[in-house]
Amino acid sequence: MIPYARQDLNQSDIDAVNKVLLSDFLTQGEVVPAFENAVGAYCGGRHAVAVNSATSALHISCLALGLGKGDVLWTTPITFVASANCALYCGAKVDFVDIDPQTYNMSVSSLEEKLLEARKNNRLPKIVVAVHFSGQPCDMESISRLSKEFGFKIIEDASHAIGARYKNVPIGSNKYSDICVFSFHPVKIITSGEGGMIVTNDEDIAKKLRLLRSHGISSNKSEMHPHPINERWNYEQIYLGFNYRMTDILAALGLSQLSRLDQFVSRRQVLAKRYDQLLVDVPVTLPHQLKETYSSYHLYPIRLNLHSISKSQQEVYDGLYQEGIAVNIHYIPVYLQPYYLKLGFVRGCCPEAEKYFSECISIPMFSRLTDVQQDKVIAAIRKILR
Ligand SMILES: *Cc1c(COP(=O)(O)O)cnc(C)c1O
Repeated sequence: MIPYARQDLNQSDIDAVNKVLLSDFLTQGEVVPAFENAVGAYCGGRHAVAVNSATSALHISCLALGLGKGDVLWTTPITFVASANCALYCGAKVDFVDIDPQTYNMSVSSLEEKLLEARKNNRLPKIVVAVHFSGQPCDMESISRLSKEFGFKIIEDASHAIGARYKNVPIGSNKYSDICVFSFHPVKIITSGEGGMIVTNDEDIAKKLRLLRSHGISSNKSEMHPHPINERWNYEQIYLGFNYRMTDILAALGLSQLSRLDQFVSRRQVLAKRYDQLLVDVPVTLPHQLKETYSSYHLYPIRLNLHSISKSQQEVYDGLYQEGIAVNIHYIPVYLQPYYLKLGFVRGCCPEAEKYFSECISIPMFSRLTDVQQDKVIAAIRKILR
């Protein structure tokens, strides 16, 4: 089977991990800060905080921005559930903004409309999570402008988008946001097995994130209450934190992978261009790219022009599996998940997202995909849509 995504590991990755395994510190050693510094330097963000997943990253990012009971977070429905669940972890409510039918990212005009409505009802969101779907950055300049007008914070869920650029600036520079989150799950652009990273330019937020990822405990004297006796073994729990730490074993893998990030993204760009050319005459809509964005192409989603083909989405999906291609659907709109329906969400709340969901299929896209494998994928699509 050709999967839709796969990690790209080599001997230097394995050597880097082995080195940590034979060292004194498997966790809380020097490799995690080295990985943090390298990611910060790569994307131009001042502070980087490594955690054990992007899900954990989103959770403590919301906490660090003060999200709690009575607050609302908005995001896109065409994302992984974690982009929305983070609000619920904090006791806040979540709501969804429909997508742009061209980029499948959050629609800025829908966002603006919804904000105007929310202002009337005094229900403005505290946080908007902008997801760079498939690796193509959102219209951050416009979202940032709206954040100033309506007073919300911005978290970029860049789980798909490490290595991507917006207006020639790497995602993670946080030029237009408060916090940016990356995922290092093996299906993403680079991997640490499991893992996540939070990047911010705000020192206070970074400090709070470091505490929250490790039980809310500090042994830094400047963060502790003044003590009559200055015991050297003293530490204090300041917040209710978690154990969301990344291990040095995983950081070593992430750091080694980071050195090949640009290579991985270039290969994905080449593969995307090949799909663009070789599928141009097939009755599908190919992913539209804006001039100001450089996608990291975590996904290559095609949209079936169902009115001009004789098969259903399910039949095309099954057909591709029968041809040995393990395609995927990204995503079921989050609010259609049974858990969310029970919270009161209803079908029809984001029509563009639902239309997209009924037509989309993510075809294989990963740096190790060979031209020969890609040709097999293209031939299978042609055969099934003929
Ligand atoms: C993968 C993903 C996450 C969660 O990442 P983990 O590291 O697996 O927790 C969150 N948001 C989006 C958009 C994702 O694709």
